[in-house]
Amino acid sequence: MTKPVVAIVGRPNSGKSTLLNRIVGRRLAIIEDMPGTTRDRNLADASWGGRDFTLVDTGGLELDPASTVAKGIRSQIQTAIDQADVIVDLVDVHDGITASDLNIADILRRISSTKPVILAVNKVDNNKLETDALEFYELSLGDPIAISAHHGRGVADLLDKIVASLPEAGQEPDQSGETVKIAIVGRPNVGKSALLNTLVGDNRAIVDNVPGTTRDAVDTLITWEDQNILLIDTAGIRRRGKIEKGVEKYSVLRSREAIDRADIALLVLDATEIGTSQDTHVGGYIQEAFKGFIIIVNKWDLIEDKNVREWNQHLRDTFRFANYAPIIYTSAITGQGVEHIMPLVIQIYRERHKRLNTAAVNDVIERAVASHTRPRQRTKQLKILYVTQAEVNPPTFVFFTNDASLVHFSYRRYLENKIRESFGFDGTPLKLIFKTRGES
Ligand code: GDP
Ligand code: GDP
Repeated sequence: MTKPVVAIVGRPNSGKSTLLNRIVGRRLAIIEDMPGTTRDRNLADASWGGRDFTLVDTGGLELDPASTVAKGIRSQIQTAIDQADVIVDLVDVHDGITASDLNIADILRRISSTKPVILAVNKVDNNKLETDALEFYELSLGDPIAISAHHGRGVADLLDKIVASLPEAGQEPDQSGETVKIAIVGRPNVGKSALLNTLVGDNRAIVDNVPGTTRDAVDTLITWEDQNILLIDTAGIRRRGKIEKGVEKYSVLRSREAIDRADIALLVLDATEIGTSQDTHVGGYIQEAFKGFIIIVNKWDLIEDKNVREWNQHLRDTFRFANYAPIIYTSAITGQGVEHIMPLVIQIYRERHKRLNTAAVNDVIERAVASHTRPRQRTKQLKILYVTQAEVNPPTFVFFTNDASLVHFSYRRYLENKIRESFGFDGTPLKLIFKTRGES
């Protein structure tokens, strides 16, 4: 069972992003003053009253079809409505009922028999404005809930109502219901946007290069074999090849931000120019951030000598720090190899969520320790007392020792390799934490 989706719709400036950020509790949107960006959807996981759901803030429904952006956003909102389990119509108390509000309400009333629609009146920052909120009964979408996204007023009531409207939960929290978050990163011109388009296919979200639209990072949500997949900051991908030199630094920063938000990063390389320092730099960042890691060698169609073994060897040398990262050879132009990406993504996502039995891990580590000289310093020799897997995504192991300072890099590597030999974890870094007995 997939997580239920709650869509926030409404005119631009009614406060949708503010509400989303209020509920999620952090700033999601990247405010950006560069022209040429397209606002599409913000999306975040949220939880209230023990229920998890995915919250989508649509770009805003402007019902003046004069601009193509408005049209794109309108079809976007239709998609949101189609995909959502609950819809929140957010209006602005200061403006009263506008023509756009009436039009949106018309669309929503038509679906309200099959899907719950909740009317929320925003910017009710004080008691005095509560009375004004009553006016919105006229939209015939039920009782308006007065909120202030800015101050948090009434948001708990709104969340109660949202949660009460969600479809029945499945018995088991099922990880297949999670949204797998993917960042596609790499230098300009390696083929990121070509790959993105191939991956997204018919699921494509709006792409519109009319300048002067709003700012935010654009994520694209697709489903692949019933799995929700979030492609992070796709606007950044589409634009990056075309940006001016001066903004290059910004683009590196942006790909770091995308990696930070992702479960799995796809590092795209250009087969005709492989393993530049920027490639290894970004790869190193993926590793440091403990994200799933796939190396994609794109433009494979341009290569004559396709000796994959030699290529693999060369890439292993270049990305020595990430020997767990699978390598895929693709051509975004012919489509060759692209079909391997999603299955691998899902597989790595599962690996990252694997939880090992504590006895089994201790068994493996005990044997590993016994078959290799333990690090020592003067008379003190390392003892590993106990190991436990503390976390998933990334898989995190805590080792309790007599003295953690005795653990050096190569011994850490040795233990990591032993865990991998027994338990896999292909495609993901492992986080190993060593503690000295008595330390909390
Ligand atoms: P969106 O276009 O619907 O996503 O709207 P935004 O979230 O960007 O908000 C539009 C403007 O309304 C911003 O200037 C917000 O600061 C402001 N705003 C949002 N919520 C409230 C609120 O509860 N009270 C007041 N007074 N202003 C708000
Ligand atoms: P981005 O800047 O990383 O998003 O790169 P683009 O997707 O814009 O691609 C840059 C250029 O490389 C474009 O001219 C693409 O047509 C071309 N390109 C992308 N992928 C491939 C591929 O697999 N094979 C070939 N021959 N060209 C490609």
